[in-house]
Amino acid sequence: MSGKNVLIVYAHQEPKSMNGSLKNIAVDVLSKMGCSVTVSDLYAMNFNAVTTRNDIAGDLCNPQHFSYGVETMEAYKKGCLCEDILKEQEKITEADLVIFQFPLYWFSFPAIMKGWIDRCFVQGFAFDFPGCYDTGLLKGKRAILSFTTGGTEHMFSSEGKSGDIKYLLWPIQHGIIHFCGFQVLAPQISYAPEYVSEERRKEMLQNWSRRLKNIWNEKPIDCTPPWYFH
Ligand SMILES: Cc1cc2nc3c(=O)[nH]c(=O)nc-3n(C[C@H](O)[C@H](O)[C@H](O)COP(=O)(O)OP(=O)(O)OC[C@H]3O[C@@H](n4cnc5c(N)ncnc54)[C@H](O)[C@@H]3O)c2cc1C
Repeated sequence: MSGKNVLIVYAHQEPKSMNGSLKNIAVDVLSKMGCSVTVSDLYAMNFNAVTTRNDIAGDLCNPQHFSYGVETMEAYKKGCLCEDILKEQEKITEADLVIFQFPLYWFSFPAIMKGWIDRCFVQGFAFDFPGCYDTGLLKGKRAILSFTTGGTEHMFSSEGKSGDIKYLLWPIQHGIIHFCGFQVLAPQISYAPEYVSEERRKEMLQNWSRRLKNIWNEKPIDCTPPWYFH
């Protein structure tokens, strides 16, 4: 869809990985559709994932008792967050759709992506009180998790050892993405790429490509507990 902006937040160290291929397909398909695509390649950027006082460029409000949440909120209001956070926030502001592309690490994001969230989704920018969930400050934007697993689809079913994959999506999709106001699209899950055939991997890539071609017409998921737990 011409004129739409897409931000891909990508966390994999190896360009030839399955995640690298899924990211490349998204860039290719969405660009051909006329979208403007920006990639934050977190490992290549050596993105700093650690929340510290250095994230505030000016004076602290209370140097005697440092509170990261309070200080970053105040710094955001004064335009005093450090440069790398401001750059990422600008990309988020411009995006109509944010794609998170990553391998599942310990039922969650890799730490570098969690750090991107911790540092960029600052109070006052991404959420506030009030101003969370359906009224989150990033409302009007869409987001999707596209990730690979080590475990098979069966392991991540309700009968499998790892339990229904939707359970582990709750903290990420609900506690982070929906909390900040995004409309959440159903996840794109590429199960166990290391353990399937080359043919099956090609199929996964084609499925992603096919889905992306219709992504702007997709209806977001119902962001309520029953989607996850029933
Ligand atoms: C710290 C850590 C924690 C983890 N925690 C979990 C966990 O909690 N749960 C879980 O299930 N897993 C977990 N894993 C496993 C991890 O999720 C998988 O290893 C990862 O998702 C596999 O994706 P990849 O991109 O790294 O695969 P890769 O190994 O890079 O790719 C798989 C195969 O795809 C091939 N490939 C790449 N591009 C193409 C292409 N265009 N066409 C065809 N083939 C291609 C590659 O050559 C390779 O053979 C964890 C791993 C680590 C390191």
